[in-house]
Amino acid sequence: MNRTVVNCAVRLSKGTLGLISKPRHIPPAGPSSSIISLPRCSHSTNVRVRSYLQYIKRKVRPNHGAPPYDHVCQIGDPVLRSQAAAVDPETITGPEVQGVIGALLRVMRKLQCVGLSAPQIGVPLRIVALEYTEKMMTESRASVSPASTEARSISVQPLRIFINPSVRVLDGRTVLFQEGCESISGFSAAVPRYLSVEVSGLNEKAEPVKWQAVGWPARIIQHEMDHLDGLLYVDRMDSKTFINVEWETHNE
Ligand SMILES: [Zn+2]
Repeated sequence: MNRTVVNCAVRLSKGTLGLISKPRHIPPAGPSSSIISLPRCSHSTNVRVRSYLQYIKRKVRPNHGAPPYDHVCQIGDPVLRSQAAAVDPETITGPEVQGVIGALLRVMRKLQCVGLSAPQIGVPLRIVALEYTEKMMTESRASVSPASTEARSISVQPLRIFINPSVRVLDGRTVLFQEGCESISGFSAAVPRYLSVEVSGLNEKAEPVKWQAVGWPARIIQHEMDHLDGLLYVDRMDSKTFINVEWETHNE
């Protein structure tokens, strides 16, 4: 999800745990080869330029093509539509899963989003993280009114990591608020979510954990849980509320 709107979301080295999706296509030859893999429906001449820039990026950063990424995958990437695999509890404290968790936190904090899931960094495993710091809360006050903060039950949340989480609905009433997602960069929409849920799973030490969330944090965990099942907020949104968050600046 985005920082104040809601949250965002989290990919592994090839071969890790045997659960990772195939590595992305890397152009074998020059820049022209990367153009071939572009969607045929694109009519923009910018596509060719962007494709070339991506090619250069891969050359400069050899690791760019291997998850876990240090960026967030965008809608259209098949990893965001896959059913993430459960993590073998025996492997949680091992270097591979710990590496994924570390990458998840780095990306989440770099982007200052309040939640992120492993599929969003290219790793189709059932791992999510949430965090909303005092600093983020303070900074959000510049853009979110106190009334809105209270109405949405926005509050500071310590770092929580859930592995193989499951959710039980505690209060089936739904509330509609605007959400964003780092995997649908630049847009947001109003999405109905249950008012209160209980999350059960394992933490980063492979210990069983349970958490009851109400309001805004409950929204975040529902959003992140959806990522593990290949769902995005656009599948649940009120489509008439779908906006480009920069729409006003386009008129300036
Ligand atoms: Zn998201």
